[in-house]
Amino acid sequence: MPNRDLLKRFARVCLMQGPTPIQRLARLEQVLGEQRRGVSIWAKRDDLMELGGGGNKLRKLEFLIGQAKSEGCDTVVAIGGVQSNLGRLAAAACARTGLACELVLAQMVARDSEIYKRNGNVLLDELFGARVHILSRGDDPAEFASRRVAEIATSGRKAFIATLGGSTPVGCLGYVDCAFEIAMQSAEMGTDFDHVVIPNGSGGMHAGLVAGTVIAGSDLSRIKAHTVLSPADACVLATVEKVNAVFEILSRDDRVEPKDLTISGAQLGGGYGVPTPEMIEAVRLVGRSEGLLLDPVYGGKAFAGLLSDIEGGIIAPGSNVLFVMTGGTPGLYAYADALNGH
Ligand SMILES: *Cc1c(COP(=O)(O)O)cnc(C)c1O
Repeated sequence: MPNRDLLKRFARVCLMQGPTPIQRLARLEQVLGEQRRGVSIWAKRDDLMELGGGGNKLRKLEFLIGQAKSEGCDTVVAIGGVQSNLGRLAAAACARTGLACELVLAQMVARDSEIYKRNGNVLLDELFGARVHILSRGDDPAEFASRRVAEIATSGRKAFIATLGGSTPVGCLGYVDCAFEIAMQSAEMGTDFDHVVIPNGSGGMHAGLVAGTVIAGSDLSRIKAHTVLSPADACVLATVEKVNAVFEILSRDDRVEPKDLTISGAQLGGGYGVPTPEMIEAVRLVGRSEGLLLDPVYGGKAFAGLLSDIEGGIIAPGSNVLFVMTGGTPGLYAYADALNGH
């Protein structure tokens, strides 16, 4: 089994209750019928966590807030888009761990409706007690955040910046651990996953999973990401850089190259946060066949990619596929206008 002691020297707070379940989506398989080509579809339920509505950012925040506390910070300033899941979960995690939280939310998506700016994650940010700054289009969030950190310092407090997606090397450790968790569960279940399918936004989850998979000695080619933010080529380069930075902080000699990563750009559509017909169909299919929620920005697009890869034979008939459900469901409320009436 992979060596979890590797992660022990990093400060960490506990925001989860042990491993998230892996469940077979048997009813979806039944609904897909012939279309599924004998592929077994499993979900790693990283949407199923007790704090703040759950989601993949909590794994990163265990290490990021650990780092903030170990550096003597009493405030977290998190950067994201308006409907940032990192923002919501940073707010909830700060509430739980007794830190103050400010969110610097940039307009990354061309959606101007009131529900987009007020509902979904933004509504929850405020309920979790965060101070929310919604920037004007064109404002630089990094610059705004450093200015806030300086202002906070003048009142004798110390702030920690959580960057976009929380995808620093330390943040990525949450998904190194998740790779170990999947390896353990897979052994317990006696099921080998031929493919692990994920969305790639800021690349931190992908980078952590890749690093953890290499360290666990498993086959890397099984991880298939669908980019939802950058074009595929740029996404590969940025993710490779993150993986290697993770190896560095873990003092590992391993390194990866672009050819080691599999990232498809086929589901990106009009870009980050822009709905596609395939995303809407995937959200509706999983909803009506399983009673489970995918989110419109990440999981919906990645699941659409999974279905298309089964159909195109890129996922071989008869294989076992693990889809990582990453949460983000509050985003559904912000996209009500795109999802209604289909
Ligand atoms: C952030 C996020 C992702 C993508 O993770 P990255 O590390 O940014 O690539 C996927 N799903 C949800 C719901 C997210 O909030």
